[in-house]
Amino acid sequence: MSAERGTAANGQVSFWYAGSGVPLPANQLDGDAAADVCIVGAGYTGLWTAYYLARADPSLRIVICEAEFAGYGASGRNGGWLTNSITGGREGYVRSHGREAVVRFQDAMNRTVQEVMDVAAAEGIDADIVKGGELNVATNAAQLQRLTAYAEQEAQWPNADTQFLDAAETAGRIAIAGVKGGIWHPHCARIQPAKLVRGLADAVRRLGVTIHEGTPAVEIGPGAVRTTRGTVRARYVIRATEGFTAGLAGQRRSWLPLNSSMIVTEPLAAGQWEAIGWDGAETLADLAHAYIYAQRTADGRIAIGGRGDPYKFGSRTDVDGHTPEKTVRALGDMLTRLFPAVEGIGIDHAWSGVLGVPRDWHATVGLADDGVGWAGGYVGTGVATTNLAGRTLADLILGRTTELTTLPWVGRRVRKWEVEPLRWLAVKSLYATYNAADKAENRGRTTTHPVAHAADFISGKA
Ligand SMILES: Cc1cc2nc3c(=O)[nH]c(=O)nc-3n(C[C@H](O)[C@H](O)[C@H](O)COP(=O)(O)OP(=O)(O)OC[C@H]3O[C@@H](n4cnc5c(N)ncnc54)[C@H](O)[C@@H]3O)c2cc1C
Repeated sequence: MSAERGTAANGQVSFWYAGSGVPLPANQLDGDAAADVCIVGAGYTGLWTAYYLARADPSLRIVICEAEFAGYGASGRNGGWLTNSITGGREGYVRSHGREAVVRFQDAMNRTVQEVMDVAAAEGIDADIVKGGELNVATNAAQLQRLTAYAEQEAQWPNADTQFLDAAETAGRIAIAGVKGGIWHPHCARIQPAKLVRGLADAVRRLGVTIHEGTPAVEIGPGAVRTTRGTVRARYVIRATEGFTAGLAGQRRSWLPLNSSMIVTEPLAAGQWEAIGWDGAETLADLAHAYIYAQRTADGRIAIGGRGDPYKFGSRTDVDGHTPEKTVRALGDMLTRLFPAVEGIGIDHAWSGVLGVPRDWHATVGLADDGVGWAGGYVGTGVATTNLAGRTLADLILGRTTELTTLPWVGRRVRKWEVEPLRWLAVKSLYATYNAADKAENRGRTTTHPVAHAADFISGKA
């Protein structure tokens, strides 16, 4: 569809900068420097870490080295779901740490959503935040079967606060074509990602943190960050590079950079919104294996994302979010399949970004004895989790044992990804399998395609 119409903008980091303009890197490092804490990467992880450290101990000298500009990565490109998901799910942690630890983890994630909203309000960051909850929907029989099983599992976790909705109740919230049911929970807010990350960078600077943009790190190690513009020596060094981590010396196989792509429509007409509803600002996803995620933006558009071309050979990343036309077309087709009322609408912008995927698909945060810390591997659920990571890293650096530092994701180490071409083949086959399973299910298969289960297991997701 959009191929014929064309896409007004492609890449340029993301649509979320269309209003403000893409920032130019400022305050490059100029020679060697010293600090107490040096953080690499000015996305949400790096900025939240700096924010809580600076608040807790204003005397700390905190420096952030950022290759491009604050918010250049996924933090300035994401789907704007500020949600309470535990990356990788709860079951792995139940096996490793027991149920009580997971209840605490879920409580912490629930509170994190509110914490981000509270800090945004306190710091005067207007990021179009509306807490309308999260709605996951089934659009075919196999998805409904998964949704029902998911609802039964969620019911075992009272602090997940999920509600099962039948087809009519789901359509009453958002009129999705052929919707068969949904699950909603309240612990999610719709945000404008770039406004949050740029506002947070300003807040951090106000607290006395130095952000050196245009300063790529080449090597991160105990006591020092070597950049192309000088070396920063620091007692603590924090790696907050998430989906870009594979580009650092010695890190090629730690977190796999998985691509996610998005499009945004032109603003919908009033009649189209009347047909669709979506008055509650819920974030929206389906239960496909290669799922889509969406939000109604503050200015009345639909932003919708999905996996696109999932992985580039050798862990390469996109150039400023440029997105293949084939992906734009696929997302456009998905949009009109879900919302026939927008057939023919213009696509104003398409972009992509990378998220970091550990071998077991579970996020981690930690600080080693040599003073090198890290957080990431959030897969597609980092918008809220980065805040929990930032608060946890601050506690670890300050030597505090707290509720946060005892959560089950702290200090986890996972094995590395396979060497190429195995890594490339594995991800290509995983998503080819998912796409084939989704097609079969859309054609009428009533149960989950067995190859999708097998792919989950082989990839380390299950
Ligand atoms: C398209 C897309 C949609 C998403 N949607 C959602 C969503 O709706 N909800 C959700 O919870 N999560 C979502 N995510 C994931 C979420 O955005 C990320 O988990 C989160 O933003 C990670 O923040 P971060 O600070 O760790 O990483 P990033 O924001 O990627 O920041 C890393 C920073 O490090 C910098 N950097 C990289 N290499 C170097 C170097 N060598 N030296 C110095 N700096 C360097 C980069 O320029 C970047 O600014 C999405 C991700 C993408 C790509």
